Amino acid sequence: MRIDLHTHSSASDGTEPPAGVIGAAAEAGLDVVALTDHDTTEGWAEAAEAARRLGLTFVPGAELSCVGRTAVHLLAYLFDPDDAELAREMAWARDDRVPRAEEIVRRLAADGYPVTLEAVLAHAPDAATLGRPHIADALVAAGAFADRNEAFEQVLHDGSPYYVGHYAVDPHRAVALVRAAGGVPVLAHPRGRKGVPDELVAALAAEGLAGIEVDHPEHSASDRRALRALAADLGLLTTGSSDYHGTGKPTPIGAETTDPEVFDRLVAQARGATAVVVP
Ligand code: AMP
Ligand code: FE
Ligand code: FE
Ligand code: ZN
Repeated sequence: MRIDLHTHSSASDGTEPPAGVIGAAAEAGLDVVALTDHDTTEGWAEAAEAARRLGLTFVPGAELSCVGRTAVHLLAYLFDPDDAELAREMAWARDDRVPRAEEIVRRLAADGYPVTLEAVLAHAPDAATLGRPHIADALVAAGAFADRNEAFEQVLHDGSPYYVGHYAVDPHRAVALVRAAGGVPVLAHPRGRKGVPDELVAALAAEGLAGIEVDHPEHSASDRRALRALAADLGLLTTGSSDYHGTGKPTPIGAETTDPEVFDRLVAQARGATAVVVP
């Protein structure tokens, strides 16, 4: 059983449509795949259909942008997509990403970078959730940078003078909302670019967090050791996933995987609001 619980499609900042992500998962020999687009459930129906057709198990999910002293990403699985409060939080984040992109573009253009909001939107035709990767794509197409990574390293990273934030839910509230919507919350890449302090992980664990993503492309071997110890201390499950973004990042789908036993325990915590789609 090969299980990847963190992927993105063109419904957010991945480069392939939801069916393409599932197709890539099948080609990579995965048995179970979750779609976890940023702040949207837009890709679920297409992905579920493709999974049924290709004989994969599909796990509906999302990656919620959360606010804090450091930005936090919360993976949420098997929640009710019609839960009003959770849906509203995701909608607020999505909506605020548009003026935020406009301001980033304004600052870049003012410094001579070849980018307009129209060009950015043209690189996000299917995106319910607009993100910095779409700005990167417009800059790459205009010849300013070689790829997304170079655009991030030069101008789009969090510490950049061009950086602008957007509305995001408080992580404590996000954990509670995901549970209230019948879902299972797992903290994404706690030691990635956006490091999450252990104290916050501990607080969220006490409030209903189910697990942490330990095996992630941005985690070093020592990060993984430390996170496994933290999870053991806090009684959290540990997952592994690729954080696949199509050609937007170098990591292939299935490059990191989750233990089948851990997956079963995650699914057992879901309160039935949304089911795993079995072939
Ligand atoms: P945003 O959601 O608009 O704040 O943009 C954050 C997203 O940018 C993350 O979800 C990543 O997918 C992507 N990202 C961050 N750093 C890089 C990078 N160096 N190369 C490619 N994509 C990146
Ligand atoms: Fe992303
Ligand atoms: Fe993330
Ligand atoms: Zn992600």
